[in-house]
Amino acid sequence: MKYETVIGLEVHIELATNTKIFCSCSAHSFGAEPNTHTCPTCLGMPGTLPVLNKKVVDYAIKAGQMLGCKINHVSHFDRKSYFYPALPSAYQITQYFSPIATDGEVEIDTTYGKKRVRIAQIHMEEDAGKLVHDIKHGLSHVDYNRAGVPLLEIVSYPDLSSAEEVEAYLERLKTLLRYARVAECEMAHGTMRCDVNISVRSAGSDTFGVRTEIKNMNSIDAIKRAIEYETARHIDAVENGTEVLVQETRRWDDIKGKSFAMRTKETAGDYRYFPDPNIMPVVIDDTWFEQIQSTLPEFPEVKLARYTEEFGLPEYDAKRLCESIALCECFEEANAVCKNAKDAANWMISDVMKTLNARQMTYDMLALSGQSLGKLIALVSGGKVSRPNGRKILDAMFDDGSVDPETFAKENNLIISTDTGLVDKVIQDAIAADPKAVADFKGGKEKALMALFGKCMKELRGNCNPQELRTLLIEAINKTN
Ligand code: ADP
Ligand code: MG
Ligand code: ZN
Repeated sequence: MKYETVIGLEVHIELATNTKIFCSCSAHSFGAEPNTHTCPTCLGMPGTLPVLNKKVVDYAIKAGQMLGCKINHVSHFDRKSYFYPALPSAYQITQYFSPIATDGEVEIDTTYGKKRVRIAQIHMEEDAGKLVHDIKHGLSHVDYNRAGVPLLEIVSYPDLSSAEEVEAYLERLKTLLRYARVAECEMAHGTMRCDVNISVRSAGSDTFGVRTEIKNMNSIDAIKRAIEYETARHIDAVENGTEVLVQETRRWDDIKGKSFAMRTKETAGDYRYFPDPNIMPVVIDDTWFEQIQSTLPEFPEVKLARYTEEFGLPEYDAKRLCESIALCECFEEANAVCKNAKDAANWMISDVMKTLNARQMTYDMLALSGQSLGKLIALVSGGKVSRPNGRKILDAMFDDGSVDPETFAKENNLIISTDTGLVDKVIQDAIAADPKAVADFKGGKEKALMALFGKCMKELRGNCNPQELRTLLIEAINKTN
């Protein structure tokens, strides 16, 4: 018999707000000393009260809109009770009865073609702290830095049917949420994690098989391996009766390449959900909704089409720019100033992106002012600064965001000399100082020109147009006797 795999994902996304969801502690503690980003509220001390961070709601609305969801104008927070040492209040504040967004949809594109994946709901919640196990001493430590970091949980319908589709779906979420600048979605940093629900059924059937949930996956390769393993285990159970499948939560051991039962699936009743009496309902009026809507970015596909059609960029260049919203914004700002999309795209791809790579920065970390870049491009294309010196100025702009290219060029003698007398003098001096090179060149050794050219360039500090310099130099050599 032929089987098909049915997969639904619960994806946790860390929102990129500055502070935590219910207190003013910093939400960014990557690499920080344990328990340095904490306060009585996120430590769940009795008597403290949560105050909802408005930015979290802003970002949740934005995310919901990017993922085609209906935004619920009234939503509530609920308590989900369970015990875990890194959850000091013994309940997690989440949204259960009325989440902020429902009924969304994203499109994915794989080798099987295009497919719509429906999103059941998105809810806001707080993250728990972390347990750090010290195996050597048989101890477990608790780090509460992550407690209270805002999360979105994005729950899909069981519309996915292969590891490839899961990967495409996660990539799509990442692209859209990064475009909206609400989350980093980097599995390796723990800012995107996912629970994978899997079942199998005979191909074409419209009833579902028993599902198992693999918790807390944080690498796409591990997810692929887990799906493959779990699918085979389910098919074996159904076909050969090797075991009786039960709805349960499982843990994936990537080293052993196997999944292990953790607990039989808890039901909603186990969590004793009830509305959190300390938090007011979240009411999003039209003004708030529209204000967020007005900040939504163009969708990646729309941008791509505009870059190729309106700006006439080659598809390849457009695609590279559209890899990151930060690149797109910088490019668009630069283009608005220099009014030459092809030039701006070239600078972005061959200079800005290369500099980012060289500095081991991700594209989204780009902080360069697009306006300043536009000015720089205009200086170079207007013949005021040479291309190599332009590159030097760009480096200075990366080092210090306040650098103005024109001021910097003037202060550092990087403006192309319009003083033809100076250029002539430099050429004559170079010729006089190296008669051998002159003779060699005249004798047919093309290479001899390089020495003279290099000397002049150095003398002029790169402030000249290389083609022009070359022409003038050859003319001057030919005049010697
Ligand atoms: P619970 O509340 O128990 O977590 P949900 O109905 O919210 O259950 O579903 C959780 C996730 O499991 C969703 O992403 C959903 O798409 C997925 N899911 C539900 N049924 C199945 C199934 N039979 N096979 C695979 N995934 C499923
Ligand atoms: Mg669930
Ligand atoms: Zn705090």
